[in-house]
Order: sequence, then C-alpha cells, then structure tokens
Amino acid sequence: MKTFEEMGLNHELVSALKRQNITSPTDVQEKTMPVVLSGKDVIVRSKTGSGKTLAFLIPVLNKDYSGHKSTTLVLAPTRELALQISTVAEKIKPRDCWMATVYGGASMNVQMDALARNPRLIIGTPGRIIDLMKRNALHPHDISTVIIDEADTMLDMGFIEDVEYILSEVSQQRQTMLLSATMPDRVLKISRNYMKNPVALNIGDEDEVTVKQIKHSYFIADGSRKLEALLSYIELSNPRKCIIFLRTKHEANLIHEFLRKQGFDTMLMHGGLTQSKREHSLKTFRKGARFLIATNVAARGIDVNDITDIINFDIPDDPLIYVHRVGRSARMGKEGKAFSLVGNKQRNLIEEIKYIAKIEISPLNLNTFKYRDVVAKFFAENRANRHGDRFDDRQRSGSGGGGYHGHNSGSFSNHQGGNKRYRGNYRHGRSERDSGDDRRSSSGATRRFRPFS
Ligand code: ADP
Ligand code: MG
Repeated sequence: MKTFEEMGLNHELVSALKRQNITSPTDVQEKTMPVVLSGKDVIVRSKTGSGKTLAFLIPVLNKDYSGHKSTTLVLAPTRELALQISTVAEKIKPRDCWMATVYGGASMNVQMDALARNPRLIIGTPGRIIDLMKRNALHPHDISTVIIDEADTMLDMGFIEDVEYILSEVSQQRQTMLLSATMPDRVLKISRNYMKNPVALNIGDEDEVTVKQIKHSYFIADGSRKLEALLSYIELSNPRKCIIFLRTKHEANLIHEFLRKQGFDTMLMHGGLTQSKREHSLKTFRKGARFLIATNVAARGIDVNDITDIINFDIPDDPLIYVHRVGRSARMGKEGKAFSLVGNKQRNLIEEIKYIAKIEISPLNLNTFKYRDVVAKFFAENRANRHGDRFDDRQRSGSGGGGYHGHNSGSFSNHQGGNKRYRGNYRHGRSERDSGDDRRSSSGATRRFRPFS
C-alpha cells in the first residue's frame, strides 16, 4: 500500500497527518481519494470506524487554497459529529484555509463571524446551516462541493427536506459526496436525484456492515429485571469504556442516576441537555470517564478511542441503528463487545438484526438474582417522585402494532434483504423518543418520523 507521501499529497498535509501518526491510507481512503480528486460525484459505503472522515477531508484539504475561491460544505446529523469532524480538520488543514463550524445550541454571532472570514470549509448541521443561509451569513453560491456524512439518515425522512433545501440553494455544478456504513437501496435510489453519475464505492465485503471484531450477546429481561441484568453484565464484562444506549431522555436520566448511586463514573448525553452539557459529557467521556449514558444522539459517527463495550438497554427495533450503535466500539480493527437487553416481546428482533447485520448474537448467562435488592431499593427510594418507571416494553403496547408481531424466526429465510419493511415501524409518532439530532423543528406531521430512534 502506498503512503500518503507516495500518493502525491501536498507536503504540508502529509506532515500534519504524520504528526497525528497517520502515514498510510486505510482501504476506504485509498479508494475514495482518487475519485474525489478527479471531481466526480461519489457514494461511499464502508464499515464503521474504517476512516471515512479522512477519506473526504484529505482530498478537500489537499487543494491549493491560495487564491482558491471554492468552498466545501460538510453536513452531519448531530452537533457533536459536526464538531468532531471539525476537530479532525483543524489538526491537518493548511494555514490559509479558514474553517467555520456551525450548529444549533451555540452562539449564532460567533458562527456568523467565522462565516464572514470566507471559510473554504464549512462543517455543520442542516438546521443551523439553513438559518445562516436565510440570514445571508452563509452564501450557498460559493459552495462547489457538498459532502454528506451519515448520508443514509440525512436523506431519510426527518432530514431530507432540510438537506434538499440546502442542495437546491447550492450550485448545480457542484461535486456531491455521500458516505455511510449503511446505504439501503431505498436511500440509494433517492440519492441519485441529487448527484451526477456518481461512482459507487462499496468497500470491503459487500455484505459486511458490522465489523467482525465485535462479540455480540443478549439477555432476555423485562421491567426492573433489566436493571439487575445491567449490573450483572457490568460485573461480568467489567467494561473499561462503555456507552449505554437508551431510547428516551427520561430513561437515560434514570439510568444515569441509578448507576451514579451504585458508584459508577457516568456521563450523560441526550437532546434535552444544554449544548454545553452535551459537549462536556462527551469530552469527559473521551478523556476517561467509564460510562456514557446516551440516546441515539451518540449512535452515529462518534469516534471515541478504545470503547470496549456497547450496551443496548433496549435492543433497537431498526437493525441499522444497531449496526451504527455497536460500531462505536471496535474502531480501526480493535476488539469490542456489544450487549443488548431484549424484552420477551422483542425476541424476534434478534433474528432481524442477525439477518440484516449478518452477525451472530449469542445468549448470555447472567445471574441477576444477586442484584434484586439493590434494584428494589432504588425503585422504593424513587417511587415518591416518579411516575411508574418500569422499563417495560412500552413502545410496543399501544403503538398500533409494530411490524414484528406475528413473525417468527422461520420467516426470515424468505427475507429478500433491503430495509423497506422496517420503515413501517417508525411511523407511530413516538414523540417521547430522543433523536437528539439537529433537525430544525420537531413538530408537524413530517417531523414526527424519527429515523434515529
Ligand atoms: P468512520 O467515519 O469510517 O466510522 P472515522 O473517520 O471516524 O471512521 O475514523 C476512525 C478512526 O480511525 C479515527 O480515530 C481516526 O483517527 C482513525 N484513522 C483514520 N484514518 C487513519 C489512518 N489512515 N491511519 C491511522 N488511523 C486512522
Ligand atoms: Mg464517520
């Protein structure tokens, strides 16, 4: 494999990469960079943690910025992901390439000042980008390249209108680039509306969406038994660095409180917190806190070194969300574990995920009895000021029938791939769920659809 130096990148960039101990490209970088440099549109599908960020940043930052007028716009679904991409870019960008990072929940004035300096690279979330366009602070006609990270979720309901608006404002002569670990056919089809003869790069084994180094396991439990199982798993696996995913902000708060009471070092991140709190939590987790309790706001793109365990307090009902969540561990060929709690009525989700993600998920033997008293005590202490936190399988009862009822594992052998079938599951207006991402508005019929949860 060629090194970056041998690939003919400019010297300043090669040295900057070297300072980060990055000397030779990963597979996705090697294959993507020449296509981007040739100016063609490109769609890149490559596993979580395989290095997609630099695959788009390196060719963009390799441009000669002296006197260069064109601007690159990078779109990301969450504020933290926009910030993370911007941190990576900041470390390797040429001195004369100004950057602006724009996202909701942070000062508009600071971002407008950054935009006033004619940045060559703008990284942001769609909602804030549109706001800034409407204030005439961000000029779409300067933009010659648009890069959409986590493209499948960005071109899905909930985001698509915002992204479509942004693309309609930007020159139609632009270069467009999409990246994700998952690219359902349905989204691929839509994406063609926004691209010109794109080159499609499928990196690695066509079917491989989840990294092989992850060991997947599950345990069947409902109600308070889930908390007992959570503690048993923590005792058994003894995670060094772990994200625990919850469906709602409310549940995340509760688990955070519960684990804190047990003396664990936990940080909390969800869409109900102020932006500075969210950023503080992620920063502290990066620096060494042991647990991050999060909603799907942390499910995509977040790159934290050395995460050993991912725990799904609720197994996600969308296999793609499972893939992205567990992909926060085992990055760049490292090892990782993924553990999911599964309600009795959710058993068939295991088969769905196994099928779509092409992985094995094994049942785990846990002794939950040991923690019965601890959990009972927690509930007793909280009963006074809580209203029925039971961690039951609430989302299914009364949801109008999620698509899984009546399936059994036998029916999966006929499943023809594609993820169309799952879409129906989201349409139940689960407004209590936290997407935590940066869409402009969460009201109105089309906004009720939550691709993240
Ligand atoms: P993806 O977007 O595909 O999930 P990221 O772009 O977040 O993956 O990269 C995952 C990790 O790999 C990051 O921590 C990044 O610093 C590291 N990385 C990326 N490219 C290289 C490289 N060429 N050499 C060494 N490490 C790399
Ligand atoms: Mg990424």
